[in-house]
Amino acid sequence: MKKKIGFFQSIDFKIVFVFIILLLVALELIGAYFIRQLETQLVDNFQEERRLQVGFLDNTLQPLLENDEDQNLTEEISRLLADFSGNGVLEAQVINPQHHILGTSDSTNQSIVGGNSNDRDVHQALLLSSKITNQYTDKTTNDRIWKLVSPIIANDGSNEVLGVISLKTNIESVYQQIEEITVIFLNASLLAVGLTILLALFISRAITKPITEMTHQAIQMAGGNYSGQVKIYGEDELGQLSLAINDLSIKVEEAQESTEAERRRLNSVLTHMTDGVIATDRRGKIVIINEMAMEMLNTSQEEAIGQSILKVLKKENEFTLRKLLKTEQELSFDFSTPETPLILHGGFSLIQRETGFISGIVCVLHDVTEQEKIERERRDFVSNVSHELRTPLTSMRSYLEALIDGAWKDPEIAPNFLQVTQEETDRMIRMISDLLNLSRMDAGNNALDMEYVNINELFNHVLNRFDMMIQSSDQPKKTFFIKREITNRQIWAEIDTDKMMQVFDNIMNNAIKYSPDGGTITCSLRETHDNVVISISDQGMGIPKKDLPHVFDRFYRVEKARARSMGGTGLGLAISKEVVQRHGGKIWANSSEGKGTTFYVLLPYIPYEEDDWE
Ligand code: ADP
Repeated sequence: MKKKIGFFQSIDFKIVFVFIILLLVALELIGAYFIRQLETQLVDNFQEERRLQVGFLDNTLQPLLENDEDQNLTEEISRLLADFSGNGVLEAQVINPQHHILGTSDSTNQSIVGGNSNDRDVHQALLLSSKITNQYTDKTTNDRIWKLVSPIIANDGSNEVLGVISLKTNIESVYQQIEEITVIFLNASLLAVGLTILLALFISRAITKPITEMTHQAIQMAGGNYSGQVKIYGEDELGQLSLAINDLSIKVEEAQESTEAERRRLNSVLTHMTDGVIATDRRGKIVIINEMAMEMLNTSQEEAIGQSILKVLKKENEFTLRKLLKTEQELSFDFSTPETPLILHGGFSLIQRETGFISGIVCVLHDVTEQEKIERERRDFVSNVSHELRTPLTSMRSYLEALIDGAWKDPEIAPNFLQVTQEETDRMIRMISDLLNLSRMDAGNNALDMEYVNINELFNHVLNRFDMMIQSSDQPKKTFFIKREITNRQIWAEIDTDKMMQVFDNIMNNAIKYSPDGGTITCSLRETHDNVVISISDQGMGIPKKDLPHVFDRFYRVEKARARSMGGTGLGLAISKEVVQRHGGKIWANSSEGKGTTFYVLLPYIPYEEDDWE
């Protein structure tokens, strides 16, 4: 996010500030040197001029003063001094060695002529016979006064002091001139500062404007907007930087697009995977979870993201992340609910960078419920077969042992024992042939021998056989009455006659077996527009609700002992189901306990117009 830059932190301020400081330092140095130099020069010039003036007067006065007899000396001097004027000259006096004032240039002050001078500088000059200069400030006018007292030396080689010329000048004008120049200089400086500020602002703007635009572009890029381009103001370094940023923007956009495409691809792969995939960060918190995994774990994206993978897999009490990764085989997770079984296998692997830094974990979950079920069924099947074969064998063995032990001599018991042994053997043979049948069907190499059959006729034929069974036997074990509710229409369908008869036999046998003596068995055959539905209802004991879905399982019997005693193998319905399913049909049962059971067989058929056959 862009932070507002304070005025004092801005490049604009810094550049202007540095420029001004540099300019002021330069001006200060130049100004101080220049003004000092100028002052010395002007003051020197002024003084030199005065010295020349005094020297000139000296030259004029010297012969006059040497010649003492000159009566008109005072007038002469007064005339000379009256003409004595010049830049800033206040007063020029001529004083003799006796300190008498011989003349003054001040016309208003002629009264002092003839009087004594009590000027200290004059006294000193006379005494030392050398030039004395003195600068002081006039108390009344506050002007600076420069005074030159120059002795007049005799030219005859005696070096006698003939008098002094005392010149008082107002030097203030020189200083005023300097001040004026200083003011001009200051004004020029101020103007220079102003211009510098403008120039510095112009320069700093030339730098900051592209920078501001680049910053703006960088912020836009960070926000995912790559459409903008930085304006290029020149071919300097900033221009090149702008070019580089524009180039970068295009590159980042391309990279972003390819990452996005990659992400979408990954997403679609993950979404359409039949395995569940979960990816976590370093600390095991979920960052990616695909649809399948959510479905398997019965969770949602919102719920799962950010959660610990251990918690989601319900393993937080058994495992730590480290332990999870150390386990070499796949882990098994049981997510079964009372309604649906669900067994998952999970494989874990690390997401590692090239440096070896671990950045997360990937877990792949496979649904192995079906495999587990098949495996369990296989185990159950083997144990069932062994058990089922052992029971008749044990019973036969005990009968045979009894016979060996002498029972064979007993004409009463022996035939009975042998008959039981034969029955058990028959049952085993039946069971083994059933098993062989099933296993052939499982292997798929027991192809159906299909032919067009009138199901109506076939079903009636089966039922006739059962009717015959009661009528032919003198003392039937059980009596029953078959009630037929069968359509008169011919229903031609393509079926394997032998196998389908076996199915009807099985159901009919069961109906008789599990019904009380004298019960009615209602057999119906109906057709819908493309199905035939055969139903066989008995008035027997019925099948408890919880057992109903299992009666078609191999070796499943509701009451094991009873069913076995009735000679059942527990494979009849399993075979029937297999046969019906291979015909593309369905088999199911409805039952109410104590009242009876109805078995239904549905077979597909294509109805033919009777004309086709005539
Ligand atoms: P079995 O040879 O034992 O009859 P099936 O596969 O034919 O084996 O039947 C499986 C089980 O289903 C039987 O043991 C029995 O408990 C139950 N069963 C089948 N038909 C009926 C029925 N008509 N009435 C009640 N129970 C039945």
